[in-house]
Amino acid sequence: MTVSQLRELLLGRKISAEEILSAHLERVHSSQLNAYITLNEEALRAAQETDRRISSGEDLPPLAGIPVAVKDNISTKGLRTTCASKMLENYVPPYDAGVVERLKKAGAVIIGKTNMDEFGMGSTSENSIFGAVRNPRDPSRSAGGSSGGSAAAVAAGEAVLALGTDTGGSVRQPAALCGIVGIKPTYGSTSRSGLIAFASSLEQVGTLGRTTADAALLQSVISGPDPMDPTCVMKSEADLSPEKGGLLGLRIGVPEELFGDKISDSAKTAVMKALRFMEKHGAVLVPLSIPELRYSVSAYYIIASAEASSNLGRYDGIRFGHSSQDHGSLAELCRNSRSEGFGREVKRRILLGTYVLSSGYADRYYRRAAAMRKRLCAGFEEAFSSCDVIASPSAVGTAPLLGQQRTDPTELYTSDICTVSANITGLPAISFPCGSGESSLPLGAQLIGRKFAEKQLISAAFAFEELTGGFENVIRSGGV
Ligand code: GLN
Repeated sequence: MTVSQLRELLLGRKISAEEILSAHLERVHSSQLNAYITLNEEALRAAQETDRRISSGEDLPPLAGIPVAVKDNISTKGLRTTCASKMLENYVPPYDAGVVERLKKAGAVIIGKTNMDEFGMGSTSENSIFGAVRNPRDPSRSAGGSSGGSAAAVAAGEAVLALGTDTGGSVRQPAALCGIVGIKPTYGSTSRSGLIAFASSLEQVGTLGRTTADAALLQSVISGPDPMDPTCVMKSEADLSPEKGGLLGLRIGVPEELFGDKISDSAKTAVMKALRFMEKHGAVLVPLSIPELRYSVSAYYIIASAEASSNLGRYDGIRFGHSSQDHGSLAELCRNSRSEGFGREVKRRILLGTYVLSSGYADRYYRRAAAMRKRLCAGFEEAFSSCDVIASPSAVGTAPLLGQQRTDPTELYTSDICTVSANITGLPAISFPCGSGESSLPLGAQLIGRKFAEKQLISAAFAFEELTGGFENVIRSGGV
């Protein structure tokens, strides 16, 4: 059920928040998906508080009694937050992230913390010390990553909504592979206070839901000012609920670079069909080119790794996090704690990031990537002179099988081609189901908008959803 359906049942006293929670927990307990790392023992109390409010006739906040899952790199006071890393395996934050404070104020029932790629580094949710997340549409496949646990939980009805984080596509890509909606908001629109940092200039907290309106409601709840995060530029709360007529006159740019040979035919065909459908319903398609997109994956992996090597420098085995028992000197303590605490991919990024920032190589790599970032921003700016939003597939194909041996890690990096540009430029983007490919697995379409144009993206996706009879219908029938 959607949030508004559940709310109606709650207000009509046809169901209690406690019953909603226990129905979801039952699914979690019988699930094979490995979507959760830790369940929240306070959830029952939060649900009972909603029921108390209802029986005493108090006004209900927007997410009252709604089970919401939270990615495990977002701090929750008193509730273990691991980043799926041995480094933080036993870390219990002393405070709530800004977005979690907002969730609680909105009455949400935080059901648990979701599995992910370690520190958000990965695209398949296999880089986790807690084991891989499985895709509810086919458990032999990946749920995508790095917010794979959040996407799987929502798609399987183990939560109504979920928070994810998106540094290079980690909300949109798992949303696409699990057949749900994912929103990556404009850089600066959500608080990152209490978000355990991976690449600070790229990441935002995003949302996942089974319908556009659900994801948009959660995004409205978490967007807004926070004095604890100086990069959060919001002056007031945002109302991101969809408006009618979102496709009428909408000029949709179609960049040739995001329909190239890196992307599977099934993804390209499904997205093009969806775009033609939108054209029939009032949108205007504008073929265009943003040549800088060709360098976006390279620029992303240089910038993200550089920032990761800096951000992860704080894990020294002394102040917090895993501390090695095997040490003599201070240097050994630090080295052994890091060797034992970080997984392979995290180490690779730290090495890569340290390398691209090191003297002699910074000019060759980091500064060139930073220059490319400016050019990519200019490329998008120019594109927006002839269109309102930019469309592409959300991922290069359908969900990959779990356990694929990859000898070359850059193979997986290139699969981020569709999503990283929105992070490099700070632009908002949405992914929504637009059809299905091999074995009826879902495919997603992405729309990228101008800064703070979330509502336009949401309204366009909502129009598509309404006109097609809902996303489950679109996935089941293979497309439009
Ligand atoms: N797949 C990308 C990476 O590994 C994006 C991750 C993310 O958005 N957190 O860096």
